[in-house]
Amino acid sequence: MAVTRAFFIGRFQPCHLGHMEVFRKILGEVDELIVGVGSAQESHTVENPFTAGERILMVSRALDELLEKMLESGEIDKMKKLYIIPLEDIYRNSLWVSHVMSMVPPFSVVYSNNPLVIRLFREAGVTVRSTKLYRRFEYQGTEIRRKMIEGEDWKNYVPDCVAEVIEEVKGVERIRDIANRDV
Ligand code: NAD
Repeated sequence: MAVTRAFFIGRFQPCHLGHMEVFRKILGEVDELIVGVGSAQESHTVENPFTAGERILMVSRALDELLEKMLESGEIDKMKKLYIIPLEDIYRNSLWVSHVMSMVPPFSVVYSNNPLVIRLFREAGVTVRSTKLYRRFEYQGTEIRRKMIEGEDWKNYVPDCVAEVIEEVKGVERIRDIANRDV
């Protein structure tokens, strides 16, 4: 039987529990998953504090843990192949889908809840599936970064292994420095 390979793109600034719910859903439905780490050229800003390499580490550790849990619980019956690929933005939306396709393995379906991403892939004739939004107010990058800056609890909104990566790279100090706030 043909392998179903799906594509999902995010900025993962940082990778959070909303992304993990979407991953769980996708991994229950497809054989292989390509994760694009978008805006790969961006880092060290309040909107995009983490480098592409740091975000790859977050996504890769979080997905390894998730797959193990899903196997243990019987949600999936075999390991899934993952590809994590950094993708820089191009400032021409009309050409973006071709850019993505030239950089990642072939795929037959895209998962996204981002309206622009959905629109661009649908216009290119690619099948797009959306998932529900999981606790969207709390599970969103902007809110988690705000909590980091304001010294509020942010760790409850990301997988433990992602919090470890953020601590390893002194991510909270970085985002506070950039936002120019005292602790
Ligand atoms: P993101 O990390 O904010 O979100 C990634 C995905 O997860 C999105 O589909 C989002 O809707 C979904 N999501 C987030 N929180 C969720 C929750 N709580 N429940 C369910 N789903 C949730 O990343 P993003 O900004 O959407 O990433 C899109 C990337 O594509 C960006 O890097 C963008 O620059 C890139 N892009 C580039 C171009 C271009 O270069 N011209 C064009 C389109 C998109």
